[in-house]
Parts: sequence; C-alpha cells; structure tokens
Amino acid sequence: MLETHYNTVIIGAGPAGLMAAVEAYNPDHSIVLLEKMHKTGMKLRISGKGRCNITNEEGMQSFLNRFGKKGRFLKYPFAQFFNHDLLKYLNEMGVPTKLERGGRYFPQSDRATDIVVAFEEKLKALKIPIVMQAPVTGLQKNKENRFVLQINHAGKSVQIQADQVCITSGGLSYPATGCTGDGYLMAQSFGHTITDTAPSLVPVLTAGDTAKRVQGVSLRNVSVSVWSENKKVTEMFGEMMFTRKGVTGPIILTLSETLVSMLDNKKDVHIKIDLKPALDHKKLDQRLLREISEHSKQNFKNMLKTLLPRKMIDLFVDILNIDPDKQLHQVTGEERKRLRMLLKEFPMQVIGHDSYDHAIVTSGGISLREINPTTMESKLASNLFLAGEVIDVNGETGGYNLTSSWSTGFLAGRSMRNNELKEF
Ligand SMILES: Cc1cc2nc3c(=O)[nH]c(=O)nc-3n(C[C@H](O)[C@H](O)[C@H](O)COP(=O)(O)OP(=O)(O)OC[C@H]3O[C@@H](n4cnc5c(N)ncnc54)[C@H](O)[C@@H]3O)c2cc1C
Repeated sequence: MLETHYNTVIIGAGPAGLMAAVEAYNPDHSIVLLEKMHKTGMKLRISGKGRCNITNEEGMQSFLNRFGKKGRFLKYPFAQFFNHDLLKYLNEMGVPTKLERGGRYFPQSDRATDIVVAFEEKLKALKIPIVMQAPVTGLQKNKENRFVLQINHAGKSVQIQADQVCITSGGLSYPATGCTGDGYLMAQSFGHTITDTAPSLVPVLTAGDTAKRVQGVSLRNVSVSVWSENKKVTEMFGEMMFTRKGVTGPIILTLSETLVSMLDNKKDVHIKIDLKPALDHKKLDQRLLREISEHSKQNFKNMLKTLLPRKMIDLFVDILNIDPDKQLHQVTGEERKRLRMLLKEFPMQVIGHDSYDHAIVTSGGISLREINPTTMESKLASNLFLAGEVIDVNGETGGYNLTSSWSTGFLAGRSMRNNELKEF
C-alpha cells in the first residue's frame, strides 16, 4: 500500500491536511496523505456539535483580531484564501453553506461529515491516496537532504522517503481524535521552538456548588468580567452557560485563554456576571423601585421571576438570605441594594479549568517566527511545511480556528504544488 518514496507527504488528515493534499496536487508529483486514525478528520466530524462552524462572515481586520497578536501572521495566508473563497470552494465541491447568527457559516445539511466526504472524493478524483492507521513516529532528513519518515503501518514499522513534507497533525486538544502533539516532536527534531502549550477555548471550574445548582442554565446578553486582586482584567458580552462544575459557552470559552494563563501563574481569579448589562446601577435601582411600588403586595420571589431565569431564583434567595414570601413593600433599601449588586456583579471564584480532553483548541505550538507566512515553509528546514493547529495560532469561537487551518493548509499545499524540488 505504501510506496518507498513520494515527492510529497502530508502528515495528518484534518482540515489543514485534507486541504493541503488537494492543493498540493501536481501531475508530476507523487503525493500521499498519512493519517494516524482509522478515519479522516475525526475532529472536523465533531466540530460545531457535528454541524461544523466552517468560517465567519467577518471582515479581514476584525477576523485577524480574533487571534490576538498572532493574527498578524495570518494576514498573508488569509489574503490568499479567506472566508468567501472557502465558501465558493466548498460549494464547488458539492457542499453548499448557510449563514447563521453571529456571522457563522455551516453546511446547509448541518452535517460536518459532508465536508470530510467531499474532500475524500476530491482526493480520490485526483488519485491522491490517503493511508489510514499510519501514524508517523519519526521524521528526519538523511545525508541527501531527503526526508525519512518512520511509520507504524499494518502492524509493522516502515520507513519511507519524501522530497517535501507538510506537518498538519494538529495540537493537543481532544486527544481521542488523534491529536496528541506528535507534530511538535517532529518539528523540534529540526530545531523548531514549541511555545508553551495550554488548553484553550475550555470550560472553567468554579468554587462551591453554585454552578451545580443552576447547571444547564444558559444566559444570553450578559457581560462577564475577569478580576484578580480587585482589578478588572477584561470583560466580554454575549452568551454563557452553567455546567455541573463551572461555566462554559461562547464568552467563557473566549475568556478561557486569559483565565487559564492567570491560573497557571497562580493568580487569584474570579469572574463577575452582569445579568443586566443594559442597565447601569442607577437605572437598575429605578427599575427595582418601580417594580416594588407597582406590585407592593406581591412577594419577593415573584419579583425575582421578572428578573431571572426560573432556575436561578432559589439560588438568589439563598445567597441574598431574604425571605422569599416577604411582600415587596417590606423589602428594605439595604436588601434592594444587595439584590442590585448580585444582579450586576454575580461573583464566581475560578479554581481551575478542564483538561485538553475538553478543550476546543490548543494555545501555543510551533513558533511563528520560524515559519515563512508567504509559503508556510519552515525557516529552519527546507521543504518542510507546517499548517493548521500545530502552529502557534489559536482564535476565538465562531469559525475562526477552522478558517486558520483551511487557509494555512491551502497556502502550504499551493507552495508544495509549485515547489520545483530542484535538489532531486
Ligand atoms: C469539539 C470541537 C468542536 C470544534 N468546533 C469548531 C467549529 O465549529 N469551528 C471552528 O472553527 N473550529 C472548531 N474546532 C476547532 C477545529 O476543529 C480545529 O482547530 C481544527 O480541526 C484543527 O485542524 P488541523 O487540521 O490543524 O488539525 P486536526 O483537525 O486536529 O487534525 C490533525 C490530524 O492529524 C492526525 N495526526 C496526528 N498525529 C499524527 C501522526 N503522528 N501521524 C499521522 N497523523 C497524525 C490526527 O489524527 C488528525 O486527524 C472544534 C474543536 C473541537 C475539539
């Protein structure tokens, strides 16, 4: 099944590898895509809860901002292949897409697997083989400057040679999908630096049983601020959710990179949830006063029903320690103030985060300083290309991470296609 030599070898059949393999197509090159697992794109298949948030409608600059400082590196790859290029590309492959809330694109079918199948068919048409259950365990160069790959395949350890190689083996998150950081070791053997890696876009764990009591409650249009030593570090507006052990949802996942790094630096970390961000303290107080005067004979618990999701009411009653049956005209100014503070600054102490098993992406990876962003070729080893999550880029949720994989995979593939492989 495996030849002893290929012009082009791509390691890892996730979105970056599938794209790189298609784009590497050159009728004069022999190409193979090697995949560790028994199926291609295991992570892609479960992305977006099986629906796959392919990309985002956002314009270039704000899109790049979603990657923080590392976004600068993606400027060139995105200029070659960006969100609308991808949508057209998928459409031509028979995967029409649709736009949803938050500028997020999904396959019209809501099936991530349609994308994987479309890439497999494309590769088949181009006669580019995908060899499954073929983990690469070692990558070096020999004296002739050719790559030598060690592969476990069909119960044997085999060696093959290649003129150019692309590492698209992903990061460390969701290891069950095949991503166990193998590419870092391969890159390191060529002198590459691996910046500190950590789980990112990951649920966080909070102290006590607060989260457990309201588990499953989803809050839309709230603002979450991150605090340490009485200083506000950052704040974000959007949607979040309580879990059995803490909090998750889009804004928490996005804030998780900051939270994880603060926890790693042994900082005291807590968040405050502003459940009424549209009202400042003064306006909220006026609203509470109005509520109290207009419904003075109603009880306190009834008023909470107008302010909170049903599942949070008992929790509020307990934290505030106010008699739920108390009539509103009996609520004191001090009690009203405590309610207002809790609505504006619902506190939760962050004590940890979930592991790579539950992290959407890995932050850190192969240092961007050692990669040429106009080709995705290593600056340390000629004819070695690097793309996808294995490199040190990670973005927010909303289709940004996949876009980075598609675009860097596209550019790496095109570079390999056009590589004259002069030395051989
Ligand atoms: C649950 C979940 C949901 C997500 N949803 C979204 C979403 O909706 N939108 C979005 O933008 N992003 C999403 N992401 C993130 C996105 O899926 C990843 O950023 C993206 O898949 C990375 O692509 P990649 O090709 O670089 O790596 P991967 O998809 O991780 O693929 C790497 C491949 O390399 C293979 N491999 C690893 N080591 C070897 C080896 N030694 N030899 C051979 N093969 C190897 C692996 O088996 C794997 O198939 C999600 C992630 C998770 C975990």
